[in-house]
Amino acid sequence: MKAAVFHGVRDVRIEEVPQPKAGPGEVILRVRRCSVCGTDKRIFTHGQKNVVPPAITGHEIVGTVHELGADVNNGLHIGQNAVVGTVVGCGKCIYCHRKQYNLCDSFTAIGYDYAGGFAEYVKIPAAAVAQGNVIPIPDSMSLERAALIEPLSCVLNGQEYLNPQPGDRAVVFGVGPIGLMHATILKARGASTVIVADVSQERLDYVTEFGLGTTVNTSGGDAVKKILAAGGGEKFDIAITACSVKAAQADALSLVRKKGRVSFFAGIPKDDPILPIDTNFIHYNEISVFGCFASNLQHYHEAMAMVLRDDIPWERFLTHRFKLQEMVKAYAVIEAGQGIKTVINCE
Ligand SMILES: [Zn+2]
Ligand SMILES: [Zn+2]
Repeated sequence: MKAAVFHGVRDVRIEEVPQPKAGPGEVILRVRRCSVCGTDKRIFTHGQKNVVPPAITGHEIVGTVHELGADVNNGLHIGQNAVVGTVVGCGKCIYCHRKQYNLCDSFTAIGYDYAGGFAEYVKIPAAAVAQGNVIPIPDSMSLERAALIEPLSCVLNGQEYLNPQPGDRAVVFGVGPIGLMHATILKARGASTVIVADVSQERLDYVTEFGLGTTVNTSGGDAVKKILAAGGGEKFDIAITACSVKAAQADALSLVRKKGRVSFFAGIPKDDPILPIDTNFIHYNEISVFGCFASNLQHYHEAMAMVLRDDIPWERFLTHRFKLQEMVKAYAVIEAGQGIKTVINCE
C-alpha cells in the first residue's frame, strides 16, 4: 500500500509499505480521509518523542472497515464507515477505570505510537478496538464532515468545562480550525457576543465569512483594550485561548468578569509555561480556569451528532484538499497559515 512515511524532520516520503493484516482483536480500515492536525504539522517540522521514524502519522481518520481480526465482536461489520478514537488507555490506571482515557498515566495514541491514517490502510490495535475506538458513523454522513469529528471532539471536551449559557459573552483567541469551532459552538449555544481575536487579518476574514461574530486584529499590541472596545466595554463570561501564545492566556484571564470561565485550550511552548497570576482576582471574582487535553470517546459521539447539523456550514471548514501523494504540499499550506482545515484523500 502507499503511505506517507515520516523519516525525520521535514523528510516525509510517499512509499510502498506492507499492507497491515488484522491479528486477533484488531481491525483494518481502508482510509478514506484523514485531516491534518496542527500536531501532524509540528511533527513534520520538529519531530516528537512518541513518533519514532520511520512512522506514519495522522489521527483524524475516517475509514471503511476492511478486515476484522478474530474475536472482534463489538457490532462492527465489513464495509462500515467509521472514525477512530486517537487515545488508547492502559486499562489499568484510575483514569482508565473512570473511562478518562485521555488522562491515562501511560496512554498511547494512534498516529503517534501506532501507525496512523496518512496511508491507504491503517491497523487499529486490539486494545483500541476493545476500548471502543472504532466508532461507526451513519452511511449518510459525508466523509468530509466525518473528518472534522476528531478535532470537534477536542473542542467539545473544552466546552464541557466552560458550560456556555444563552446570553453569555465570549472571547476566543486564535483563528485556527479549533478557534473557529469554539466560536461556532458558542454561537450555536446562544452566546450573545462572540469576539474572535487573531493577528492575521486573512484568518479573521473567515470569522466574518462564517458569520461567527466580531473580529479583533491584535497585531500591534493592546489586545485587551481592543477586545474590550469591540465588546462595548463590558468584560466576558467565557475566554478561550486557541493559540499557543502565553500573552493570550494572561489577556484571557484579565478579560473575564465575575464567575468568568477561562479555558487554556491550547498548550504553550514547553520552555516558557510560567505565568504570574493574581490569585486574589480568581478568589474574589469566583473565576474558574480550565485545562483541556485531547478528548474522550463520549466527545466523539457528541461531535458526530453535531456534524450532522445542517445549520452549521461544516464543509466550509475544509479549505484545502490533497491526495496522499501530495502530503508535503499539505504541510506547506498549513505552515504558511493558509486556510482552515486541510484534508487528505487517501483513496
Ligand atoms: Zn487532531
Ligand atoms: Zn490508564
